[in-house]
Amino acid sequence: MGTENPGRPGFPARPASLPFAAAPQTATPFSSTGPVAGSEPPSFRPTAMPPPPQASSLFSSSGPPVRPGVPGFRPAPPGTFNDPSVPPPQPPSANAPPAAGTFLRFPPPPFSSSGQVPPQQRAPFVGPPPIQQSGSQPPSFPSPPQPQTPFVQMGSPPQSISPAPMGSNVPPPTPTHQPPFPGYARMQQPPPAHSSFPPSQGNYGPPPPPVSSPFLPQPGGYAPSPAVAAPLGMQPPGSGPPIGGIQGLAEDFNSLTVQTRPGTMDPLFDSSELPRPLDGDVEPKNLDAMYPMNCHPRYLRLTTSAVPSSQSLASRWHLPLGAVVCPLAEPPEGEELSVVSFAPASVVRCRRCRTYVNPYMTFTEAGRKFRCNVCTLLNDVPSEYYAQLDATGKRVDLDQRPELTKGTVEFVAPAEYMVRPPMPPVYFFLIDVSISAVRSGMIQIVAETIKSCLDELPGFPRTQIGFATFDSTIHFYNMKSSLTQPQMLVVSDLDDVFVPLPDDLLVNLSESRSVVETFLDSLPSMFQDNANVESAFGPALKAVFMVMSQLGGKLLIFQNTLPSLGVGRLKLRGDDSRVYGTDKEHVLRLPEDPFYKQMAAEFSKFQISTNVYAFSDKYTDIASLGTLAKYTAGQVYYYPAFQSAIHGEKLRHELRRDLTRETAWEAVMRIRCAKGVRFTTYHGNFMLRSTDLLALPAVDCDKAFAMQLSLEETLLTTQTMYFQVALLYTASCGERRIRVHTMAVPVVTDLGEMYRLADTGAIVSLFSRLAIEKTLSQKLEDARTAVQLKIVKALKEYRNLYAVQHRLANRMIYPESLKFLMLYGLALCRSMALRGGFGDAPLDERCAAGHTMMVLPIKRLLKLLYPSLIRLDEYLLKVDLKSIERRLALTMENLDSRGLYIYDDGFRFILWFGKGVSPEIARNLLGADFAAELSKATLSEHDNEMSRGLMRVLEKFRNADRAYYQLCYLVRQGEQPREGFLLLTNLVEDQMGGNNGYSDWMLQISRQVQQ
Ligand SMILES: [Zn+2]
Repeated sequence: MGTENPGRPGFPARPASLPFAAAPQTATPFSSTGPVAGSEPPSFRPTAMPPPPQASSLFSSSGPPVRPGVPGFRPAPPGTFNDPSVPPPQPPSANAPPAAGTFLRFPPPPFSSSGQVPPQQRAPFVGPPPIQQSGSQPPSFPSPPQPQTPFVQMGSPPQSISPAPMGSNVPPPTPTHQPPFPGYARMQQPPPAHSSFPPSQGNYGPPPPPVSSPFLPQPGGYAPSPAVAAPLGMQPPGSGPPIGGIQGLAEDFNSLTVQTRPGTMDPLFDSSELPRPLDGDVEPKNLDAMYPMNCHPRYLRLTTSAVPSSQSLASRWHLPLGAVVCPLAEPPEGEELSVVSFAPASVVRCRRCRTYVNPYMTFTEAGRKFRCNVCTLLNDVPSEYYAQLDATGKRVDLDQRPELTKGTVEFVAPAEYMVRPPMPPVYFFLIDVSISAVRSGMIQIVAETIKSCLDELPGFPRTQIGFATFDSTIHFYNMKSSLTQPQMLVVSDLDDVFVPLPDDLLVNLSESRSVVETFLDSLPSMFQDNANVESAFGPALKAVFMVMSQLGGKLLIFQNTLPSLGVGRLKLRGDDSRVYGTDKEHVLRLPEDPFYKQMAAEFSKFQISTNVYAFSDKYTDIASLGTLAKYTAGQVYYYPAFQSAIHGEKLRHELRRDLTRETAWEAVMRIRCAKGVRFTTYHGNFMLRSTDLLALPAVDCDKAFAMQLSLEETLLTTQTMYFQVALLYTASCGERRIRVHTMAVPVVTDLGEMYRLADTGAIVSLFSRLAIEKTLSQKLEDARTAVQLKIVKALKEYRNLYAVQHRLANRMIYPESLKFLMLYGLALCRSMALRGGFGDAPLDERCAAGHTMMVLPIKRLLKLLYPSLIRLDEYLLKVDLKSIERRLALTMENLDSRGLYIYDDGFRFILWFGKGVSPEIARNLLGADFAAELSKATLSEHDNEMSRGLMRVLEKFRNADRAYYQLCYLVRQGEQPREGFLLLTNLVEDQMGGNNGYSDWMLQISRQVQQ
């Protein structure tokens, strides 16, 4: 419970009009830690503010140093940042912000480290001797014995018939199925539902009566749906009676055939029957009928849409209990968000718990009162918000009130939600110009891309922009609009960094447009002969902070050389393989110098978000640099060994996306829930500013955050739990906004329901974050083991629920909702961030992958973990036009040597040419390169229909998600070692090196579950 303050006797009403000035700390509905800006932009310049606390200190946590003599902005005292939604005065101990400069560590990952589950080793070989597998893929390891253990996928118990489509959409039991277990031969004709689930088993009582109208706002309070009535209550209205009896069971008990293949050893069982997420992420829809006014799952997903009613029940749910939030997710084209303004009145909220008005609040007493759905307090309806109720108790103005009918709305925040005028969008670029940066061609691409985006930077005409470059010295650029050319100002004293002309280094883009363009045109040539090999990155960072701290904004860093001079210099590390497997291993993945964490904390406090673009072909310490992004809601982009001729397009697209996507500035986010439940840990890129307030200096549609929750009370008495995400931010247009997502979910008394409503995507998303965090304090192997252990525990619990009654003693069972969990768990363990040890991933690449995965929204993360593999040649030859839509399981077995395949993980394409691919295809697509080493070939469009067809396909795949740009890598079958590290390692279903294949992994889990 983030916002309840039980100790406090009632909340005073929010002050009607708070001044922008510093209200007492934490007493302001919303105050920013950032500097207090004096006047409206574009003259966001110091006017009548008091002088800076200190004129020339080079770096202090008490405020940004400003050049002596320049009237500076007085930064607000650190830590006054408060959520809009936080009620006025709070006990200092509860929500007190951290002391200045304090670096808040995230809570330790909750994985148990004492798991005794053996690490992923091959099962001991006890069966018959291995037989060479027929086919193209020689097994390189002896195979475990063929299990006699069928994998039975088990759905929900019969009462929990899912409202899946009936009829033809129900997959009939595969005709080839062997009866998976003798006593249960006719799955198609199971015993009647109730008889197979005696009430004493699994806590299932008789199904409650159907609820005809699950949600009906009415005076006197919201009538919650019966908790366990969910299965029936969830029937979409008009869809007829629930699927029951025989048909229901046929659905629930899909099974996997387990057969030995005559003459072969592998797979252990018919691997074609294993579940695979070939449709990618599927957003949960199971609450749509019950709570149609919930926000869309693209914004908020729970790991299970059923909140356990008691702590004892929660303790039996071994998977993480929590949520994944993507507050600014992009709606599909054409879908507009409702923007609601109550001006001149304030935003309607519960006066006790500060929940924003939402569809689940109920109006009563002829419309004069409303009852808060979260804390049940009866509030007065503000007079300007009053409306009569109709005969059914609904407000008569409901159709003009999106906030009462939609789970997602955006409120225009009045003045009391700000402590300074909304900041303008600010973009500051810090660019490495040392010799390696120059040689890579990065500078040119960056300069060109920024220039091409100038018209599209959000926030015209208020947008501000600035540049600095560095090698062994720091160079600023005076961009004053009265100049015809920028002036370069060099700072060479790295120990006492001084910022010359701070007022003219960050300028209004529209006023200084021509100076900015001149600068960008000349930047690449300015340093083309630079032979400087040093990097004064740390001092440059401090200098830029001095320039930016007055306003905040986005800092984009383009870094190519390991910081070598001044504060924050780093050294080569990570090349000692002996550290791996010891308790020192994780240190390599932590920032080496506390400077980076301290800087990040300062950045966050002054509303600066940092994106790090790293390009080096050598070790560049992403672990340290990434920290800057981690705590400032930023992002790490890593282009190892960047060369503009090869990687230019990727950088161009991704930088463009970064610069032009809609961005929320000086934001804070809080997720509330009703009494009895509390969010305990948060995972992603942000700084935690009080117990539950996420500080996000800049945030966009490509960032997701995960959080875990726990029950505060032994027993929940409510039948519905509500969650509300509130993101308070400044829009690029200059308006202060509050985006609110509201979701209702049932509280259940039954573990089976929790499983039935589980969301594998959200679970995997939370799992990944926890596992990556674990690699920062423990060995990689421990992190992988923890993933496996969680899965095993969950399946064990599920097994205990159902195995006995179904006589499934020797079988592995798992709920339909989690059928992909095992595979995603395996893919996670084999992902770049977690795989293997020293030799399996370069340290920087591993750290960069970890940073990337921490921010990915669910859909993108799942695609990275289990990418799509599609056969292309048949489509290009027009033999089979549908083949382009068929995703294939990620195994070598699916690669026909006559075929051409594309592997797409959302970050890159790998185009695999089989050895026997028709010469016509190769020639058409590759032109003169068709016979060359494909590592040297590049893909470009040739003048033939097939080549154009391929380009269209790539374009289509790229357009499906534009957050990252997939560069296309070409590889020919057998071209080693390239084929290995580009593709084969990523075919997660195959056993590779020391990695489990899918079959082994399932077998291992199955054994552990049954132990
Ligand atoms: Zn309330």
